[in-house]
Amino acid sequence: MQKVVFVDRDGVLIKAPKIDNKPYSIRKFEKIKIIKGVLQGIKILKKNFKIIMITNQPDVYRKKVKKIEVKKINNYLKIMLKLNDVYACYHDNIHKCDCRKPKIGMLLLAKKKWNINLKKSFLIGDRSSDILAGKKAGCTNFFVNYNYDEKLPSKRSCYYVKSFYRAALKINKIIKNNNE
Ligand SMILES: [Mg+2]
Ligand SMILES: [Zn+2]
Repeated sequence: MQKVVFVDRDGVLIKAPKIDNKPYSIRKFEKIKIIKGVLQGIKILKKNFKIIMITNQPDVYRKKVKKIEVKKINNYLKIMLKLNDVYACYHDNIHKCDCRKPKIGMLLLAKKKWNINLKKSFLIGDRSSDILAGKKAGCTNFFVNYNYDEKLPSKRSCYYVKSFYRAALKINKIIKNNNE
């Protein structure tokens, strides 16, 4: 079975612009800024894990961004960061879909496709919805904390870190200690 690190997109791999101290998704391909340390972090993790991006993109339904633009951004990241796979939810709350985090539909789809052991997998996110999904799926969770103006996840459910890179180092340490 595969071990995976699930990563959120906005605020974890690429910069998320903030309005009123809350993160937003970029709406133009040209606005992509890969966060410092992400490339190195992925290099470290790739030795032991598949890397799968899972991202909520409700602005597609809200007509603030075109789906084709989101796909262009995601494909670019998949190639640039050598991600093994990418999953996106384009729905909003009213759709009651199974994929919008904190639901775990995207993780389950990936599990089926890649034969993933979720208990030996990790998740890195910057919002409570990410951490809740990881927790439900049985992963070990890392919260990149920007002190957004919203409810932050319980410190019992995740490790608080400053960046994706810090999370990558810590994951590497954990698996080395477990001799995996
Ligand atoms: Mg995010
Ligand atoms: Zn969805």
